[in-house]
Amino acid sequence: MFSGLGLADPLLKALEAEKYTHPTPIQAQAIPSLLEGRDLLGLAQTGTGKTAAFTLPLLHRLNKNQKPPGRNGVRALILAPTRELAVQIGDSIRAYSQFVALRHTVITGGVPQGRQVKAMSRGVDILVATPGRLLDLVNQRHVDLHMAETLILDEADRMFDMGFIRDIRKIVQMLPRERHTMLFSATMPSEIEKLAREILVNPAKVEVTPEVITVDRIQQHVFHVPGSRKRDLLHELMTDPALSRVIVFTRTKHGANRLAEQLMKSGVNADAIHGNKSQGARQRALNDFKDNRSRVLVATDIAARGIDVDGVTHVVNFDLPMEAESYVHRIGRTARAGAGGIAFSFCDPSEKKYLRDIERLIKRPIATAVNPLGAANDGGQGERRDRDEDSNERRRKPHRGQPASKKYRAKPAGKKAGGQGPKREDGGKQAPRGQDGPKKSPAKPGGNKPFRRTRTRAA
Ligand code: AMP
Repeated sequence: MFSGLGLADPLLKALEAEKYTHPTPIQAQAIPSLLEGRDLLGLAQTGTGKTAAFTLPLLHRLNKNQKPPGRNGVRALILAPTRELAVQIGDSIRAYSQFVALRHTVITGGVPQGRQVKAMSRGVDILVATPGRLLDLVNQRHVDLHMAETLILDEADRMFDMGFIRDIRKIVQMLPRERHTMLFSATMPSEIEKLAREILVNPAKVEVTPEVITVDRIQQHVFHVPGSRKRDLLHELMTDPALSRVIVFTRTKHGANRLAEQLMKSGVNADAIHGNKSQGARQRALNDFKDNRSRVLVATDIAARGIDVDGVTHVVNFDLPMEAESYVHRIGRTARAGAGGIAFSFCDPSEKKYLRDIERLIKRPIATAVNPLGAANDGGQGERRDRDEDSNERRRKPHRGQPASKKYRAKPAGKKAGGQGPKREDGGKQAPRGQDGPKKSPAKPGGNKPFRRTRTRAA
């Protein structure tokens, strides 16, 4: 719970308004050290909640010790490599500071400087900036950094890649030596390590180390199905006992609740986990899932962060994620600890663009599975497949070691057929790679590239 971290009430209120119920791992670890005033070295990438990890304690400290920044003055400086990231950080500050009286602004290149100059004239509590434009405005005396108490470098490795390291050193020299400093970086090239040693004093370290997700080990299938029939498709799939521990992903919290309720009504033990649930309710849902009291956990992306349950047999993307990266994180919930796993994705015609993005990211097509509801329910994708399916019906084998089940059983793929996945559209010529798939076909260049998932470790 955020309330245990020692943040001021107006900040907790803002988090409530943002519907954040519990801190992400990096927040839980970084916030207490930062509230104490310790410098921090954070090895973390975007998507871990790092912005709130440094913004919340910053707002807390600035708010507790209110003082005017002075003309053109800055109390805290956040440096970011790109305009996009700077704007995003500015948006987060606006959200988290909605109940405190602190001023902030964003300064980046690529836009006229007039507004930025105006915003700086009275000074700000927090300035978010990209290094180039900041130096410009400092040189023109529109920004005065000599009183800045806090310095935060975000995505330091990217700033290095973009050639900003000299600018950063120049900027650091303009700040008081006595200050609170944080450096966040997804990787630690030697230049950044050196910079960290120069600018941080006895820092706390929080590391969100990437864990490799090997998509190769996961059998992936896509069902083309109109949104209105997704529920029926899920019910149909759930008649197969092979789906014994299933995480279903939905895009919205409301969708997660509704789906869990519908599953319960149809006799499948299910629970939902999402950001609107209290920490207690989330933990209960997770424990029930781990202890096999519920067979299905319906989750949203953010809530699924940090879920680490072994033996997940299937991941179902009830809605396709809008961000292709999320697909990899989602399906990585199965195939843990070296095991294989199966991922089903439900794709409504309106979601095809997301499917294309995902296939581009994982550098391979996802096998189309026969929709067991029939051709009328697969968005016009399956006429040919259904004919194929009829002619192949007799040749199908049940899952290995599993009771025979219904219409989507795997079709033999070459001699070494099998797998617990559904039949492929192409008649199984390219059986899905996985523990049962043919071993021969080498991945396309880059196809074996590991994807990374984050797991936090404090130092
Ligand atoms: P970041 O890694 O800072 O870019 O954050 C990634 C996303 O997670 C942003 O959209 C945040 O709004 C969101 N987020 C950060 N912390 C939390 C939290 N504790 N609960 C829910 N969402 C969060």
